[in-house]
Amino acid sequence: MKFGGTSVADLDRIRHVAARVKRECDAGHQVAVVVSAMAGATNQLVKWCNDLDPLHDPREYDVVVASGEQVTTGLLAIALGKIGVKARSWQGWQVPVRTDAAHGKARVESIEGAALLADMAAGVVPVVAGFQGVAPDGRISTLGRGGSDLSAVALAAALKADRCDIYTDVDGVYTTDPRIVPRARKLERISYEEMLELASVGAKVLQTRSVELAMKYRVRVQVLSSFEDRPGTLVVDEDEIVEKLTVAGIAYSAEEAKITVRRVPDRPGVAAALFGPLAAANINVDMIVQNVGADGTTDMTFTVGRADLARTQEVLATLKDSLGYQSVLADPHVVKISAVGVGMRSHAGVAATMFRALAEKGINIQVISTSEIKVSVLVAAEYRELAVRALHTAFGLDGPEPPAKEEEE
Ligand code: ASP
Ligand code: MG
Repeated sequence: MKFGGTSVADLDRIRHVAARVKRECDAGHQVAVVVSAMAGATNQLVKWCNDLDPLHDPREYDVVVASGEQVTTGLLAIALGKIGVKARSWQGWQVPVRTDAAHGKARVESIEGAALLADMAAGVVPVVAGFQGVAPDGRISTLGRGGSDLSAVALAAALKADRCDIYTDVDGVYTTDPRIVPRARKLERISYEEMLELASVGAKVLQTRSVELAMKYRVRVQVLSSFEDRPGTLVVDEDEIVEKLTVAGIAYSAEEAKITVRRVPDRPGVAAALFGPLAAANINVDMIVQNVGADGTTDMTFTVGRADLARTQEVLATLKDSLGYQSVLADPHVVKISAVGVGMRSHAGVAATMFRALAEKGINIQVISTSEIKVSVLVAAEYRELAVRALHTAFGLDGPEPPAKEEEE
């Protein structure tokens, strides 16, 4: 059971978490718990480091920011003891959770589960600090922001857990962003691959790296609310999903920018000459289209993260003479909308349905890209909500109208 920052934000919530853990133990399950720091705590710790010295030693940064989780492990162990559940806290270095030396964004290399398993067998609930581990130099390391999801999945893999329940402030994974489409539905199950696509295109329920790890070690993950009492969404192997939806969800990413390089000479090597230097500058290129050349030149259009737009333009400017293109057009006012579903592998016509739905709303498609389980289009930013709604309806994902909010008495 993993509890995020909002679930352990104050003592009342920590008591509530303890009760939840007790219920699982009473039901006869052996449980290990992973906790985040109290909501907001890590931000404060990061700020203190930066305020003192923006160029701080990352090893000392890790000492500071890992402390938020130390507090919540101890508090939860106390709260559990108070209601008669035997528990003890574990810091990353005590387990130990071994990581590489990349302080501030370390990768988990191994976890020794034996001591925790012995605790559990003896009826003691281990409460483990998320987000932290120990580096090869013996010093405290942290896994990067949001890293306690990763801790939980890695621990579940090491303990060979039946399931890794991630308790959070949403009650599951939805077919799209419910703030845009009130009729979005909660999915009972979703495959690792779909979750990865949805996570990386904007649905920020689980940290992407934690889903990759779950997929690699086949850890069954459940996302559920710590405030409401009902099942969440299971993230599982495709084989565990009986009814495979052609499209399981519609995601969007408003963090892209479009670049068009006009009239590039149409000859072997130009794409390499263009994208090589961008890669060397660590700029991630996402969608790419190249038009058929007419007069010995061609247009190349692609997207980059909006934060990389200025640097991309700089790199392109240095290539103007060697490449001999005519001009560069940049458009940051775009949004990428994706339909994702493993059922696409065996169903034709997904792209056609998508294009028709957008055409009916008069939305112009600027760039298209596809993978085995995803079709993405780039459209003008102002169409974000209209396009997401239209596609959600077109793929039959709309659920019942949510009940109108009742007036407070
Ligand atoms: N407390 C850490 C953070 O805020 C880790 C986590 O909550 O997942 O980034
Ligand atoms: Mg989190």
